[in-house]
Amino acid sequence: MPAAEPFPTCDESIRPTRVEVDLGQLGRNLAAIRSHAGGARVMAVVKANAYGHGLVPVAREMVRGGADSLGVALLEEAVLLREAGITAPILVFGGIAETQIPLFFRHDLTLTAPSVDKLRLIDDAAAAHGVRARVHLKIDTGMERLGIHYYSADRLLEASLNARHVQVEGIYSHFANSDTADLGHARLQLERFLEVLSFYERRSLPVPQRHIANSGGILQLPESHLDLVRPGILLYGVYPGPECLRSVPVRPALTWKSHVAYFKVVQPGHPVSYGSTWTADHSVRMVTVPVGYGDGYFRALSNRAEVLIRGERHPVAGRVCMDQIMVNIGQGTAYYRDEVVLLGRQGGEEVTADELAGWAGTIAYEVLTNINARVPRVYL
Ligand SMILES: *Cc1c(COP(=O)(O)O)cnc(C)c1O
Repeated sequence: MPAAEPFPTCDESIRPTRVEVDLGQLGRNLAAIRSHAGGARVMAVVKANAYGHGLVPVAREMVRGGADSLGVALLEEAVLLREAGITAPILVFGGIAETQIPLFFRHDLTLTAPSVDKLRLIDDAAAAHGVRARVHLKIDTGMERLGIHYYSADRLLEASLNARHVQVEGIYSHFANSDTADLGHARLQLERFLEVLSFYERRSLPVPQRHIANSGGILQLPESHLDLVRPGILLYGVYPGPECLRSVPVRPALTWKSHVAYFKVVQPGHPVSYGSTWTADHSVRMVTVPVGYGDGYFRALSNRAEVLIRGERHPVAGRVCMDQIMVNIGQGTAYYRDEVVLLGRQGGEEVTADELAGWAGTIAYEVLTNINARVPRVYL
């Protein structure tokens, strides 16, 4: 099933560089998370083009695999999902502008209310449109990003009781440090969140769905699972950080591939690529591969990354260009159109997102979300 965007075809004979996504593996990751989370509901986070895996096909697979709802960062992402015919509940995490509110109603999307002012805007708009807005309240317990501070949260909860055109379906917060070995700050955030939630108990009111656990929380803080968990990177088979407990068995589902487009022998003293940053002191075999930073293969990978050809690791030589890289295969063999794996497995070898992140000086999240729309996605 080829991706529709942005080019009409991703036939291998025309476009050798592509991302292959194993939807079956995504389904197994979701099932592993669900069983670890016990009775909690699962909101599959598919923001940023499903962490580079392709928004609509991944969201469909998640819903098919039993995700209770979907989470996205932006209104536009949610609208794309609705236009693709996905009817599952969708929560938009991001802050909202007043002008966006009617679109939430039109597409039956769930809004985040991060302040009393925003809640009032939503309530007024809902009244004007004759609808009941679905809302999750957002509490800031230690991230200083979005949401009412935990120490003033009573005001928002109070206001929500009087917002007659709003249905408060959930209340949530977000961890700043749930993937580290030291969980002190995460525990403090959870404590603050539970203290905010005691508002409902004190008044004997029904409690909306409570959620705070991202991938790190799911893996390391079972007491944070509450009513619903929000896995992102873990769904894609990648652990959120190097120190994080690997308490749920998941596997990557994405392989980024290209092929050998050109072969030559480079003589000693003849520098390779822009800036002439790499020179051999003996003659080596070199292949050119049609992928570059214009596809999202970071320029920071220049002279650092390795790729897989014929089941073996070979280093990128010289600077990564916009559309091509050169790979030093030493005295090895490679033929025109041999498969080149940039990320993922080939034979018994594997290049992981964490490894690429280490070479590029970033995190796996950015490696995945940076693979851009020029690279066709193919679903297995
Ligand atoms: C991105 C995001 C998540 C998922 O985070 P991971 O670390 O990828 O699991 C969960 N909740 C919110 C609000 C997010 O923005």
